Amino acid sequence: MLTLGPDHVIWLDGQFVPWTEVSIPALSHGLHYGTGVFEGVRAYPTDQGPAIFRLKDHTDRLLNSAKILNMTVPYSAEELNHAQVELLQRNQLEDAYIRPLSFFGPESMSLYNQTLNTYTLIAAWHWDSYLGQENLKRGVSIQTSSFTHRHANSTLSKAKATGNYLSSMLALEEAKRNGYDEALMLDSDGHVVEGSAEHLFIVRGGELFTPPVTGTIEGITRDTILKLAKEQGLTVTEKLMTRDEVYIADEAFFTGTAVEVTPIAKIDGREIGKGSRGSITEKLQRGYFDLVHGRSKHHSNWLTYVRKEHDRRTENSSQYETAV
Ligand code: PMP
Repeated sequence: MLTLGPDHVIWLDGQFVPWTEVSIPALSHGLHYGTGVFEGVRAYPTDQGPAIFRLKDHTDRLLNSAKILNMTVPYSAEELNHAQVELLQRNQLEDAYIRPLSFFGPESMSLYNQTLNTYTLIAAWHWDSYLGQENLKRGVSIQTSSFTHRHANSTLSKAKATGNYLSSMLALEEAKRNGYDEALMLDSDGHVVEGSAEHLFIVRGGELFTPPVTGTIEGITRDTILKLAKEQGLTVTEKLMTRDEVYIADEAFFTGTAVEVTPIAKIDGREIGKGSRGSITEKLQRGYFDLVHGRSKHHSNWLTYVRKEHDRRTENSSQYETAV
């Protein structure tokens, strides 16, 4: 259940509107055909108040997703970034999951999209780690999905488009119904692509491997981990891999804005390594949480502070701890 209070506002095409009063036309194209593009962004508490992690990169990806669908979003990246900062200020959120969404409206029910207007909303609310706080330590159990990952040339899987998530939803529902926490999706050749909505890394012999993102979105957490791993002196190789390569990995983990860095303990009933969070995963996880909470000296340009500079300087400096 979403935890939005009655005074909570949503940004809707330039206006801040109480979320209970937002009305979306029932005949919106986006609702009927999954013609929308969206982002999942997170803000974390830091000792200078909340900060949005890699906001510019998320907004650039949103606008690129729109470009792939040939959808015109009538806002600049700066306007969308500013709206997200102000949304957090107005809702007084100390941490947040932020959901910008652009979708086609109700101007026509024809599949042809070029006669349609684009509507944009941004919502933000508190959302704990997607796969559970406990699983950040313990690790999740996953199942290889019976659903093939969407083909790169069918719905254009570099777009974070709403309709693309039907196959993700089916895969996750199947995995959960079978008693697992998440799914692992393969392409039509049997190569690993990702989880239902998170990228995969494995560790073998002290080195890191991850599948290429040819058939899926370019992950911002994945990119963060690639950079962090190199800074920690790890060798990282992007390569095609099969499910049995995951079976014999020493460690494995998922990355994503929602799942953050979540260890994978088991796949298809087989333990990965010792069946618990591995030491390389733990170190990268710690590095990631240090970054997002502003405790690292590196990459400070990835943080967009929500409070004005003056308010940040006068703020009590308390250290935020993470539970991992
Ligand atoms: N794959 C898919 C299909 C996604 O939707 C997402 C975002 N939830 C990811 C991977 C992870 O991407 P990011 O690290 O940018 O959140």
